[in-house]
Amino acid sequence: MTDNASARPLRPATLLLHGALERTPFGETSEAMFLTSGFVYDSAEQAERTFTGEVSHYQYSRFGNPTVSAFEQRMALLEGAEACRATATGMAAVSSALLSHLKAGDRIVAARALFGSCHWIVANLLPRYDIECVFVDGADLAQWREALSVPTQAVLLETPSNPMLEIVDLRAVCDLAHAAGAMVVVDNVFATPLGQKPLELGADVVVYSCTKHIDGQGRVLGGAVLGRAKWVEDVLQPFIRNTGPAMSPFNAWVLLKGLETMALRVEAMAANAARIADFLAASPAIARVWYPFRADHPQEALARAQMSNGGSLVAFEVRGGKAEAFRLMNALRLVAISNNLGDSRSLATHPATTTHMRVGAEERARLGITDGVIRLSVGLEDALDLEDDLGAALSALDAREAAE
Ligand SMILES: *Cc1c(COP(=O)(O)O)cnc(C)c1O
Repeated sequence: MTDNASARPLRPATLLLHGALERTPFGETSEAMFLTSGFVYDSAEQAERTFTGEVSHYQYSRFGNPTVSAFEQRMALLEGAEACRATATGMAAVSSALLSHLKAGDRIVAARALFGSCHWIVANLLPRYDIECVFVDGADLAQWREALSVPTQAVLLETPSNPMLEIVDLRAVCDLAHAAGAMVVVDNVFATPLGQKPLELGADVVVYSCTKHIDGQGRVLGGAVLGRAKWVEDVLQPFIRNTGPAMSPFNAWVLLKGLETMALRVEAMAANAARIADFLAASPAIARVWYPFRADHPQEALARAQMSNGGSLVAFEVRGGKAEAFRLMNALRLVAISNNLGDSRSLATHPATTTHMRVGAEERARLGITDGVIRLSVGLEDALDLEDDLGAALSALDAREAAE
């Protein structure tokens, strides 16, 4: 489909449907699902030749599976990467990318604003293996420059960041990292593969939690690591093959279905989010709104230069701290309270007491996560219904203030 159907490369929305689509002799329209743990051989000789690498044959689903391969190939085509390996979760993708590459005595520099478990891996797990870790403020190039002034083996960052939607200058940080000898790993979950192309801006490896926008409908967990074929084959694949963070073929099939509609979903979610950010900013009960494409975001120009839309997440600070933030969340009828994101249903999170509870008060203060901050993952509802729901919850706060 993609190699010889036409000389012109397929555009993303088409790739999401036709990329790496391989049909069995039954001619099924939708991808077949190969729910099998193992594979059989025609002969002992074929098994032998498979293990020596003389013939190509699936061996065991921990190493590879046709449904998982279809998902990996479609992801690679979409990302513009040479190779992809799918994993059971987003965290398996992040930990496999780092642990397969680093060894004792190495050094990693990471942006401080990371997804909670990514922060834990860098701050708590890697040092146990004698890997030095240094955190910097992702938006401050001077800190990156200083941290990367000595030889370094890996850089890990997330842009926009969770939950304050801070932007890291990908091109500038990749240049600094490469000069220090580091491989750059970008967690591109918030931007999605359609909204930002880290590999084109210099990154070496891109990781995803497919649990978020790629499934996008709250069903399965999954992860993906994308990068150069040589690194994936020589460094990542032996680690995955022998440690076992493999994706289930059932989940790969669900994720292939998710990819089919992802372009439509993430565009509609980003359009809703931009509108909801403006709606929230107009409320006197809200002190501040963070959305990458709004004129009051301190890095709006950088966000517009490296992203094609502002994303589906909005952060905002309710006046009155935790009590008022909780009151607002509890008054919502349509928007659900959840620590998840990237779902077709809108979800509200109070980071200080959930996703970022464990990072501690001092680190939260450094990251700007006050007790009044709410992270909103905007879904596919009609924006007018979301405005009605948020508006009713906000007027409950206003009414209370007026009564006091
Ligand atoms: C959710 C998420 C992860 C972890 O993914 P899981 O699929 O939950 O393991 C990593 N990074 C970011 C930015 C995320 O949002």
